[in-house]
Amino acid sequence: MTSPSASIAGSVRAPAPANEPVRDYAPGSPEATRLRQRIDQIRAETRQLPHVINGERVFGGAEADVVSPHEHGRVLGRITPAQGKQVEAAIDAALSARRVWSRTPWWERAAVFLRAADLVTGKYRDELLATTMLGQSKTFHQAEIDAACELADFLRYNVHLAAGIYEQQPSSDPGQWNIMDHRGLEGFVLALTPFNFTAIAGNLPSTPALMGNTVVWKPSEKSALSSDVVMRVFDEAGLPPGVINLVHGDGQTIATHALADEHLAGVSFTGSTTVFRSLWKQVAQHLDTYRGYPRLVGETGGKNAIVAHPSADPDALLVALVRGAFEYQGQKCSAASRAYLPRSLWQRLRDPLIDIIRTLRVGDPTEHETFVGAVIDGVSLKRLEAAIGKAKSLDSHQLLVGGTVRPETGWFVDPTVLVTTDPTAFTMSEEFFGPILTVHVYDDWDTVLPLIDATSPYALTCSVFATERTAIAQALDVLRDTAGMTYVNDKPTGALIGRQSFGGGRASGTNDKTGSALALQRWISGRFIKENMNPDLDWTYPYLRESRIES
Ligand code: NAD
Repeated sequence: MTSPSASIAGSVRAPAPANEPVRDYAPGSPEATRLRQRIDQIRAETRQLPHVINGERVFGGAEADVVSPHEHGRVLGRITPAQGKQVEAAIDAALSARRVWSRTPWWERAAVFLRAADLVTGKYRDELLATTMLGQSKTFHQAEIDAACELADFLRYNVHLAAGIYEQQPSSDPGQWNIMDHRGLEGFVLALTPFNFTAIAGNLPSTPALMGNTVVWKPSEKSALSSDVVMRVFDEAGLPPGVINLVHGDGQTIATHALADEHLAGVSFTGSTTVFRSLWKQVAQHLDTYRGYPRLVGETGGKNAIVAHPSADPDALLVALVRGAFEYQGQKCSAASRAYLPRSLWQRLRDPLIDIIRTLRVGDPTEHETFVGAVIDGVSLKRLEAAIGKAKSLDSHQLLVGGTVRPETGWFVDPTVLVTTDPTAFTMSEEFFGPILTVHVYDDWDTVLPLIDATSPYALTCSVFATERTAIAQALDVLRDTAGMTYVNDKPTGALIGRQSFGGGRASGTNDKTGSALALQRWISGRFIKENMNPDLDWTYPYLRESRIES
């Protein structure tokens, strides 16, 4: 690829980003009517979802069905799970594209992703929303904030953040010039993405690519339908062949091949803690054969707490509990899944919480009445059913509301609230990734805060509800290492790119703060260049002079 803008003189400024406005999709509105038509059309199709290797759409081989979680008899698409041959072809394509792409001026790379953002919010908005709603069981609102707004925000803010990084240059003393060359990594980056956010699926391969890397991207099999649209967006935006190579299929098979390659330069992962740990171990096993030290970036599980002080506003707390725990069926990494409520407030909140949860409609998310769709697959439903069953069998737990699963037509799990007298129980420490909230009613604020910190291995998000400033300050201090994102008087979900970047520590990941400059820095391998305008012409130093005279 020749680069026409390589001849541009002058430093280039990135456009100022703004968060994409969220559309309402009120019943009967023009945007909802148009989207409904697109949903009906895609629902009636069975799409062939190809690998995209070196710009070529590759079909063929044994097929696997991609179904709708809320209507699991409906086959929306088919993938052909990649074998070693396709993975190797994708790696080769990435390595071949790297030389030119890594030398392409940053603003030209950025222009591709800015164009992609406009395609996301324009031409492809309805298709991205429809495939996310059908394939990942998201409601109108959940699909809009993910597949349109957050995806576009990632693409636009990352360009702005990259421009800020490229501006950073070292100072130089007279007679020399120091330059920082913000190179991409040497080799290829493997991006493995989760099912639950179309935005994350698009962001994980595009962030390293923006910074000059070339990528092998394996999306979740469970989000293959929307990932196919994301890849077409990148293609139409002008991404050169080989820069991002998409291979569908089984994570373990694909990762085993990719992690064994000597050119692995980094892994960009979001998903479960168990899988990330297995990737890290595999990388360690291959360490002697790699050409460098692969960068490992992983955002993983969570067990996110809402804690309320007796001074908390009960109405705001109620909204946070319902939205934080049950939007998108609790399948957000940041979803609230444990709550610590003071006895005084619990007496007021208990019945209103039950009443609201009973009114939440569980069903087809493409219908306007639905608040809770289906969980992603039968494995997830069985895991959640087992967790509820185990909790019900314990004397320390009481089922307050929900607790039923309905797998006949879709994988539906009713929003479930458990109450436990045992704050160390498995329901307060393990990630379930579904619509289950466990409440512990506490008596002493001073002891509940360290308990929250010590109970779970995760450290992703938490929420503190209080109106007394001293209580807020105390919670922020005690819970400093408990979460990578702490919300005060707000639900623990819904981080907005450019405003709150997300990520957590401990078992929740490497905390590289997706959507911030820190995340972009992970995909740079700097090179310093020093040019000397007045090279020394005498090899001696002043301290040597006397001895030289003597000799
Ligand atoms: P997952 O770990 O099952 O899958 C993630 C990706 O890894 C998928 O592409 C999958 O195919 C692949 N994979 C699965 N098994 C693999 C293996 N053995 N080797 C290599 N790759 C493998 O996660 P998921 O179910 O898609 O997503 C849910 C998880 O993701 C939850 O734990 C959630 O907390 C986490 N998550 C975290 C964040 C965050 O920012 N911290 C964001 C979203 C999701």
